[in-house]
Amino acid sequence: MSTADTQTIPGSAAAATASAAGGDAEEAGILIIGANQSGVQLAISLRAAGNTEKITLLSEEDHRPYQRPALSKEFLQGKIDKERLIFRSNEYWQDHNIHLVKGVRIDHIEKNPDGSGIATGGGRSFAFTRLALAVGARPRRLDIPGADLEGVTYLRNADDVLALKALIQGVEDAVVIGGGFIGLETACSLHGLGKNVTVLEHGPRLIGRAVGEETADFFLQHHRKNGIDIVLNSRIKQFVGDGATVTGVELEDGTVIDTQLVIVGIGVIPNTELAEKMGLDIDNGIVVDSHAVASDGTTIAIGDVANTPNPIPGSPADERIRLESVNNAIEHAKIAAFSLVGKPEAYAGIPWFWSNQGDLKLQIAGFTLGYDHTVVRADEKKNKFSVLYYRDGQIVAADCINAPLDFMTVRSALAKDQNIPAELAADPAQQLKKLAVNVEVAS
Ligand code: NAP
Repeated sequence: MSTADTQTIPGSAAAATASAAGGDAEEAGILIIGANQSGVQLAISLRAAGNTEKITLLSEEDHRPYQRPALSKEFLQGKIDKERLIFRSNEYWQDHNIHLVKGVRIDHIEKNPDGSGIATGGGRSFAFTRLALAVGARPRRLDIPGADLEGVTYLRNADDVLALKALIQGVEDAVVIGGGFIGLETACSLHGLGKNVTVLEHGPRLIGRAVGEETADFFLQHHRKNGIDIVLNSRIKQFVGDGATVTGVELEDGTVIDTQLVIVGIGVIPNTELAEKMGLDIDNGIVVDSHAVASDGTTIAIGDVANTPNPIPGSPADERIRLESVNNAIEHAKIAAFSLVGKPEAYAGIPWFWSNQGDLKLQIAGFTLGYDHTVVRADEKKNKFSVLYYRDGQIVAADCINAPLDFMTVRSALAKDQNIPAELAADPAQQLKKLAVNVEVAS
């Protein structure tokens, strides 16, 4: 693992120059591969931290850098247009001397021990003094018969949603495969557009990776009551079609669910291939230290693709985590910027997430890792529902639905190392913020 000393930017004398074949040979600088949430944040944070080097921000997609959270919700539903997704104006990038290059897929990287090198792809080459991989993750594919039929779709980027928006026009029924965040947000959006929606989840409950049983059950009951058909423990055999187009999803028990559209949301796979070819350590993502620096001591890896030490203060030193969230992308990128300007700070903080599903707004603070007790605070009339998670009597996380005050209180308590005693928290009439107490540190 690298130390603070290895994280300063190598001197310009070591700077690489692009190969004669490339058109981008004039000046090296920091190269960020991936103009997603973390890549964009890194460029912005570098400038905020006073960095004046050339920054090149590479995007494989042909769009100006855009935000993804609204893709499965407001954008799919037609409530906002493309312009609302754009992070920054063209002027911003120009004014801050950040070279945005769209439509380039890097497939090879030559790197020197000092951190400099050359990245090539699509007939172009880009010299760098330091490299940041913000290459994200891609949807896991469902490899079953009929997977290539028209109408079987995935939702990860803007092109996916533009294609989906065109497809849904003439569709009455839709099957969503996967009852995670993408699946449920998309199901709610399609249901809101008047489609008959069936969700097929292969696990015994919804959102199995991110929330506990009580929260999962609340979502299940709510979505079913609202008219979304949800099948748990489903086993999908194949997609059936009429010629080239999907007409149904067949389950292993022989049931066929008729549909003109399938959206698959069964998780993502981190894009580690470039890092693997560079010889970096990989373990469910690119392994980085608490400064977002990979195993070679110079390459930065951030966001969905990075496997980082658990940032929650007090976590066991060997506990690692790969986080797929906007909050992580932003905070991790800020840490990377500090590393690149030679003022390293360790990644520390309370992770949080959100998911909007129809009229339910879920906010999650902390991790449920190792919890042994839960407290439910429910207010049926107000459609509010919170679950607090405890480990050895100490609060470690909360899922809060339509309960922003509970969420803010737990997030703040976790950040301040406070506790919210479980026996008092169960009464929804009690304001959580009045219950937070400082944790006594054993002497
Ligand atoms: P996800 O949250 O991992 O959910 C995937 C779901 O699909 C899981 O419940 C999984 O069950 C299930 N599944 C897996 N294989 C299946 C199969 N063959 N048939 C039926 N169900 C199957 O991933 P996602 O919903 O695809 O989201 C992708 C990424 O986007 C994640 O990084 C997610 O965090 C992110 N995202 C975040 C938000 C947000 O924060 N609001 C919104 C949208 C997307 P098992 O767990 O049992 O495998």
